[in-house]
Amino acid sequence: MLRVRFAPSPTGNLHIGNARTALINLLFARSNGGSFLLRIEDTDVERSDAAFESAILEDLRWLGVNWDEGPVRQTDRLSTYTEWADKLLASGQAYKCFCTVEELEHQRREALRRGLPPRYTGRCRDLTAYQVKDRQVTGQPFVIRFRAPRRRIEFKDLLHGTVAFPPDHVDDFIIIRNDGVPAYNFAVVIDDMLMGVTHVIRGSDHLSNTPKQIMLFEILGGKPPAYGHHGLLLGGDKKPLSKRHGASNIAELRAAGILPEAVANYLGIIGKSAKKEVLSRDELIREFSLESFSASDQAFDYEKLRWLNKEHLRQASPERLSNILGLPHEFQSKIALLRENAGTLVELREQLDIFDGEEMEKEALDFALKIPALGVIVERISGLFSETARPAIEDLHRLLKESPGLARKDVFMLLRVMTTGRKSGPPLTEAYPLISTRSMVGRLACLQKRLSNS
Ligand code: GLU
Repeated sequence: MLRVRFAPSPTGNLHIGNARTALINLLFARSNGGSFLLRIEDTDVERSDAAFESAILEDLRWLGVNWDEGPVRQTDRLSTYTEWADKLLASGQAYKCFCTVEELEHQRREALRRGLPPRYTGRCRDLTAYQVKDRQVTGQPFVIRFRAPRRRIEFKDLLHGTVAFPPDHVDDFIIIRNDGVPAYNFAVVIDDMLMGVTHVIRGSDHLSNTPKQIMLFEILGGKPPAYGHHGLLLGGDKKPLSKRHGASNIAELRAAGILPEAVANYLGIIGKSAKKEVLSRDELIREFSLESFSASDQAFDYEKLRWLNKEHLRQASPERLSNILGLPHEFQSKIALLRENAGTLVELREQLDIFDGEEMEKEALDFALKIPALGVIVERISGLFSETARPAIEDLHRLLKESPGLARKDVFMLLRVMTTGRKSGPPLTEAYPLISTRSMVGRLACLQKRLSNS
């Protein structure tokens, strides 16, 4: 049975690129009847934070990335990693290294000076049992290193094709740090092995870790999973995603009023040339093929996401949208009108002012104030409104059409501006019945005030 995992480190909010990895894994599992495991890789104790973990889980749920198992937390499994490290020590495939930070730094600088890649020199590789004991007795801190075989590693990546690494790519890397906590490459392999992961799908930034993981797998006697490394999501300028590019994490997209289905749709089609672009979750699953994801990096296009969001807003029920916005159900008809044109929920909420606000937007005000006959028009129209009565939109339209001093081309716009306080918005005949009389009276008063001040 196919089994994948998503393994975030709780060192920050859920990045859009990582959310894409999560989604690809989910779609892959769902389209193959496999299962999806969530694993929290929190062994970087200094940078990991429980608050980030909850935020990541919340963002995954929001996005509809529902895991079948977990979350499994690596810090809850420390004894398992120690057990396996002890096995490697016992068989001589790992060894204790007592090199100090200063010594390692010295070795590193020496290598760089000689134009060599900075690799561990193997200084503690062949310590005798006596030397090891001696150092331990005096309480010298140590790490455990993997005795890496010096050989070329070649594997077939599901997206990159055949990838090969030369024998010196992997040095005797650390598997257990001096505080007893496992290093990333070790914990990942133990977990992927014991958890029966069949496919590891992740970003290309992990490609160079893969030979280390394959070596460990082979030594531990497990069968390595299939690996697939997809390209990363970068800004249009090829730099890591940041707020400058529109957003860098899921929380920002959510705050900007993008719907989860739009985010999933976008992340599920990035870098693919699809005939149909607006896809539901079911369609994403049905049309999923891992190979169609590019191995090369992709540019995050916020405008495209906004466009998809617009499409999904149109399909979403006003009931659901009013729930998301925390508005009572009376708002549904207003939302139904606005969702036709809003790019985000934030814009939609903001446009609700059309119906109940009394303010006028600057461009709307500027437009109205340029009309020579405005004073007369506003006075006549105001006369038609009272606390209990308001004219029909057709009457207002007729009145404006017959107003001397108002160009024909401006009739509709002025009607819109006076009733909604804005130059753009939903079809006026549909919006008009939903605008409160108080709102319109307020806007007319605002125009009057401006006119008498000028
Ligand atoms: N914890 C790693 C990360 O967040 C995941 C690596 C992996 O998928 O193997 O980058």
